[in-house]
Amino acid sequence: MNFTELGLAEPLLRAVRDQGYDIPTPIQAQAIPAVLKGGDLMAGAQTGTGKTAGFTLPMLHRLAAQGPKRDARGRVAIRALILTPTRELAAQVEESVRTYGKYLPLTSMVMFGGVGMQPQVDRLRKGVDILVATPGRLLDHHQQGTLDLKHVEIFVLDEADRMLDMGFIHDIKKVLAILPVQKQSLLFSATFSDDIKALADRLLNQPALIEVARRNATADTIAQKVHPVGRERKKELLAHLIKGGDWHQVLVFTRMKHGANRLTEYLNDHGISAMAIHGNKSQGARTKALADFKSGDLQVLVATDIAARGIDIDQLPHVVNFELPNVPEDYVHRIGRTGRAGATGEAVSLVCVDEDIFLRDIEKLIRRSIPRETVPGFEPPAGEKAEPIVLGRMTIGVGGTRRGGGGGGGGGGRPHSGSGAGRPGSGSRPASAGGRPGGGGGGGGRPGGPARPGGSGRR
Ligand code: AMP
Repeated sequence: MNFTELGLAEPLLRAVRDQGYDIPTPIQAQAIPAVLKGGDLMAGAQTGTGKTAGFTLPMLHRLAAQGPKRDARGRVAIRALILTPTRELAAQVEESVRTYGKYLPLTSMVMFGGVGMQPQVDRLRKGVDILVATPGRLLDHHQQGTLDLKHVEIFVLDEADRMLDMGFIHDIKKVLAILPVQKQSLLFSATFSDDIKALADRLLNQPALIEVARRNATADTIAQKVHPVGRERKKELLAHLIKGGDWHQVLVFTRMKHGANRLTEYLNDHGISAMAIHGNKSQGARTKALADFKSGDLQVLVATDIAARGIDIDQLPHVVNFELPNVPEDYVHRIGRTGRAGATGEAVSLVCVDEDIFLRDIEKLIRRSIPRETVPGFEPPAGEKAEPIVLGRMTIGVGGTRRGGGGGGGGGGRPHSGSGAGRPGSGSRPASAGGRPGGGGGGGGRPGGPARPGGSGRR
């Protein structure tokens, strides 16, 4: 099937062609005709499946077919509302709306908290067809009377499960209460818990049901595996796996630079060509390492998360987490380097008892359990006890998080939450854009975060 068979208007097909898309993804092939028909939709799809175009394209088609509507003051009225859990997603979705709608006379705006209200008020005053918003700020505008949602015809709840996880259920209910009863509603969610089903029952009217296989960084094309191993035997196990499996182009992740260096030395000493790539290396050394790795002359590249972020390599056959990252999202980024675009790949993690807490966090994030496979001869020693992991001046793991130099940071916290490192998705996100509960800095533990994320950011 190609895009022309889906019944989309020519300006949309042109925009799709400009993007270089040839064939619709499975969610698009199913969602686009369903949404064009005008009915409600409940779709199981997550980021990476092409879901955004799946709802944006038919939404734009329908809005363009009808022409603008005017509110009581004669302004272009909001006819489509897309609600997202985070400001990042809101911004991305609105960008997609503009990208796909660039040949149509439709206007859009993005609205989230953590930034001034006034520019948003000014923009609303000019009139807009499509609004992409996070719930908190949307409700702020509604309360202040700066937003009119009476003309909404299409309502999209994107990443509904994440919204519930983030504690937005009350806000969602409030938004539903101010929307017109008569509308087309589309709900997208990666998972279908009872809470999501209850929300769907409330929102959707005889919806079409679509579910596509997960296809993000933890796609099924990536075989994920955990090899439990003793703390002191990871290097040996890695060398054993590389040699035994005749692995080439292996990207290995360590948490810290010195760990990358030590591991590289060990591998070279054991007949495996390896180079470390991290911030302390000169640009020349990094470029050479990367070129050798890509050409196949270098068997193993050892990288830290930060170093890896800047390098253009993916579709690798083997990614190894020599150490699990303490930030679960980094796991998804790491293993996303393999198995892209339908290619098969393998992501193995060498996990010692100290890292069980990281593994739990990762499995929670990716919503699946990673199969454990002990390698014969490398069984973890019976009775090995977890020890704290030292990360620079911070110690995490058993006994909670401790900062070097005098006990700040607060006990029991999620390691990265209080680090203030400005990571996307942690404390750096403005509260009203839907920061993760407990992500607010200062060492607040994961349990007991604010009941309503973003509450503190609202006035
Ligand atoms: P999404 O799941 O909506 O976040 O989209 C994931 C990525 O897939 C985005 O970078 C899109 O630009 C891209 N994408 C969406 N639809 C297609 C398509 N039909 N063909 C190729 N890439 C696509």
